[in-house]
Amino acid sequence: MQFPIKKITKTDNPISQQKVKVVCRVRPFLPHEFPDDTVGVDGNSIKITNQRNPTEILKYSFNACYGPTTAQTELFNNDVYPLLDHVLKGLNATIFAYGVTGSGKTHTMQGSQEHPGIIPRTLRRLFEIKNTSINRIDIKVSYMEIYKENVYDLLVPRDSITGLAIREDMNRNIFVANLTEKEINSYAEFEKVYSAACKHRSTAATKLNVHSSRSHAILCIYVTCRDDARGTTLFGKINLIDLAGSEDNRRTENGKERLVESAAINKSLFALGQVVEALSQGSSRIPYRDSKMTRILQDSLGGRSLSMIIINISPGQAFYTDTYNTLNFATRTKEIENRPEVNQ
Ligand code: ADP
Ligand code: MG
Repeated sequence: MQFPIKKITKTDNPISQQKVKVVCRVRPFLPHEFPDDTVGVDGNSIKITNQRNPTEILKYSFNACYGPTTAQTELFNNDVYPLLDHVLKGLNATIFAYGVTGSGKTHTMQGSQEHPGIIPRTLRRLFEIKNTSINRIDIKVSYMEIYKENVYDLLVPRDSITGLAIREDMNRNIFVANLTEKEINSYAEFEKVYSAACKHRSTAATKLNVHSSRSHAILCIYVTCRDDARGTTLFGKINLIDLAGSEDNRRTENGKERLVESAAINKSLFALGQVVEALSQGSSRIPYRDSKMTRILQDSLGGRSLSMIIINISPGQAFYTDTYNTLNFATRTKEIENRPEVNQ
């Protein structure tokens, strides 16, 4: 049986003016690290001290700031769970994990068996909703990786290094040609599909002698919600993105291949920063076309979509420069009042 499709227009969305939300998460010290007080969390702010100039404390404020003892469940309940409601109402949402390699992006997005992150929690929650809702909810996923500005499908084994093409349909919607979209019927099925995809990712990386921290991984969950009583069908989606490490690879790497990688990573993270900044300032021109990632996410960043960047921070003096760069990237995405203050 076919259901009439009710289109939601931009004016139906009361939150269309909301800017990109930025939250910060500081991971704990790892067993081999020497604990110091370089980074401190104070309410919604983070303070950092450079031991070379200890009188100078830089303070940055965000929508939320999570310290090293924050549990996965707290971050999920506060910042992710509320987005799922919007997705079920036909809106798009995007969550990015940004930060240098080792700062906790994968822990935050994927987590471990004992401490599952945003991806497993989101799927678990969506299936709970599906199984208890009076509406008919269908869930599909796609999973892709962007490496050196090439887009690869992670739901199938990689048989070629040629990436997938990005196309535009007649309604000017951007899509990745031939990307697999797989219907998923239970959380257990998702776990199987996802772990196979993660294996495809690491096998492909090994073949190319690449570490996964050098590519962006985009999991897209498409949610279709049919309300039989009203005869409406709503299409929402949520993108969960583990970004490539934001460290400045030029400092440590000088091989040609690594430079090409670094250039691609810098380009796409810079483009993401520019898009987010343009959205936050309400610019009429948003530079989506400047990288593959922002182009693919065009319908899920800005407009009627909700976006959040999770800034991951490694504590400790060894990461001071990385932390400084990460926080400055993040504050450019916020309002001027969030510029660092210097307390003498
Ligand atoms: P990234 O993906 O940014 O390179 P990872 O998520 O792999 O970083 O984290 C690096 C290490 O730190 C891993 O061993 C991870 O388990 C640990 N870690 C990261 N964040 C946390 C956290 N919030 N609590 C406990 N351990 C964490
Ligand atoms: Mg990682």
